[in-house]
Amino acid sequence: MTKYLGLDLGGTNIKVAVIEKIDNKWQVIKKDDQATEAEGGPAHVVSRLAKLAKDNLAEFPDLAGVGVAVPGVFNAKDGTIVLFPNLPGPWKGFQALAPVADAVKLPTALINDARAFTLAEAIMGAAHGKKTVACYVIGTGVGGGIVIDGKIHMGSTGGAGEIAHQIVKVDGPLCGCGSRGCAETLTNSAAIAKLAGTKTSEEAYKKAVAGDAQALAAFKEVGYWISIALTNVMVVLAPDTIIIGGGVAQSGDILLNEIRKEMAKQSNIYPESAINIVPATLGFYAGAIGAALNGAITAGAQLSLMSTT
Ligand SMILES: [Zn+2]
Repeated sequence: MTKYLGLDLGGTNIKVAVIEKIDNKWQVIKKDDQATEAEGGPAHVVSRLAKLAKDNLAEFPDLAGVGVAVPGVFNAKDGTIVLFPNLPGPWKGFQALAPVADAVKLPTALINDARAFTLAEAIMGAAHGKKTVACYVIGTGVGGGIVIDGKIHMGSTGGAGEIAHQIVKVDGPLCGCGSRGCAETLTNSAAIAKLAGTKTSEEAYKKAVAGDAQALAAFKEVGYWISIALTNVMVVLAPDTIIIGGGVAQSGDILLNEIRKEMAKQSNIYPESAINIVPATLGFYAGAIGAALNGAITAGAQLSLMSTT
């Protein structure tokens, strides 16, 4: 049988997933994670990715493709990094694809980590079998991704799907992308913690569950800003399913209910039943699984969202 490897490069860990289609269904046959050792700089980190790819090829000689999910922007034409906002070192212009491809001599591709997350959830997770999907992934930054007609949509730049960089508050706070008032600045983990008066967003969520008024107000406000971004997505795309991912979003229904309530008010041209907001289901390894699926696409595997039952 044919297997595909996914590596998800994060600031702390490199998550590893190996997938295989068994009985016409994609299944994860290995999950693992290794320290990124990001402080070692770009050459060290990329050599770790290459070694992980080589080690997994030794373990699974029938690997047919490799995908690497990366936390930022890269040049899709040549595999060099444009911007990794959360990894230390001189990443700009650094070649991240060739050393991994050379280590395994297999079809190998980079994908943005949020797009990998979206691909995994659309094929194997919360939006399995759905044709049109949007994904909003809350963390230190806020990632996004879009599936149209069963395919991840990359657009003319290869960078489509950054739905958290919609400007939802004119002249709002400065975003890492250089614009003001992007949904990301108003809804990331730091924004949640600040509004809730807590150190972390996880703590904010726990307080909200316990009924803390400030934490509940924080989620009400964050839900409002997300609802504007997602209402815009709704009128442009009318997705079957909108997935909310990231640690905070998976912690329960408090935030999701705020988003649903506000979107019902704003999306007047659609019936409320058309708004389908669900939490992500694949968890910690979603990015690695999506990277592996992208490796499969790169290797030319038949990958229809509609036929994977
Ligand atoms: Zn932005």
